[in-house]
Amino acid sequence: RSAPPGPVEHLSPADLFIAVKTTGRYHRKRLELLLDTWISRNMQQTFVFTDGEDDKLRKRMGAHLINTNCSAAHNRQALSCKMALEYDTFIKSGKKWFCHVDDDNYLNVGPLLKLLSQYSHKQDVYIGRPSLERPIEATERLGTTDMKQVRFWFATGGAGFCLSHGLALKMKPWASDGTFVATAEHIRLPDDCTVGYIVEALLGVSLIRSALFHSHLENLGLVSDIHNQVTLSYGTVENSRNTVNVKGPFSINEDHTRFRSVHCLLYPDTAWCPSTLRL
Ligand code: UDP
Ligand code: MN
Repeated sequence: RSAPPGPVEHLSPADLFIAVKTTGRYHRKRLELLLDTWISRNMQQTFVFTDGEDDKLRKRMGAHLINTNCSAAHNRQALSCKMALEYDTFIKSGKKWFCHVDDDNYLNVGPLLKLLSQYSHKQDVYIGRPSLERPIEATERLGTTDMKQVRFWFATGGAGFCLSHGLALKMKPWASDGTFVATAEHIRLPDDCTVGYIVEALLGVSLIRSALFHSHLENLGLVSDIHNQVTLSYGTVENSRNTVNVKGPFSINEDHTRFRSVHCLLYPDTAWCPSTLRL
């Protein structure tokens, strides 16, 4: 595998469309932490896709909070309904890059821009981190009896992933205006797998792997060089914490996800970060 060719396109934050997937019961528990940290620096290009109205969030985000009216259930249909709206809203926005993250991701927009600027938004780019060591296998239902096995890679939604404008346009027949939900049902897989299916299996475009995206499926304690990572996450399994290792400024009690400490490391001039960091 050869290294990316070096910067081909100058990118600014305004070229990004960042979609965050959340659900009503995580507004206080997860989303507010993101609003206090990375989203506060990137509100203009960030859209939060949820499933219930919330006056407090509406006041804070305005039109950047998108109530999908998708079901709040954690099933394939509900999750792909949100991804479908993320996709449609991106297409309408006309932005160069679509990036999806979950509400337990910290997104570091600087390294993201640096990474994406190595590709052209007009080319076919699907970039992220696979969750499995081998391609997933799915059954395509072609007719009532006709079945076909397909193998493809997908970027795990929990680590975040991006699609170029050029590739997103090619996905339209299987992704736009309600077809995404039908495509997900067709192969009976979750939303992030469905994106991989459309890109790899239907369009023949390969996922570009990046080790800069991180989900809580990996050991986050091993992540070094926080400044240059594109996404981080944290594990919520009660008896085994899985978070990045950052020393201060907040204790694990004050900041069990470590996202506030990460934010102060990256942006020491933030008002609520200890002033000693600003020296
Ligand atoms: N989520 C959702 N609806 C639900 C449950 C979860 O939209 O009913 C979202 C959640 O907000 C997060 C993503 O799906 O952005 C993944 O959820 P979680 O981190 O709880 O699960 P895991 O990472 O274990 O798949
Ligand atoms: Mn998660």
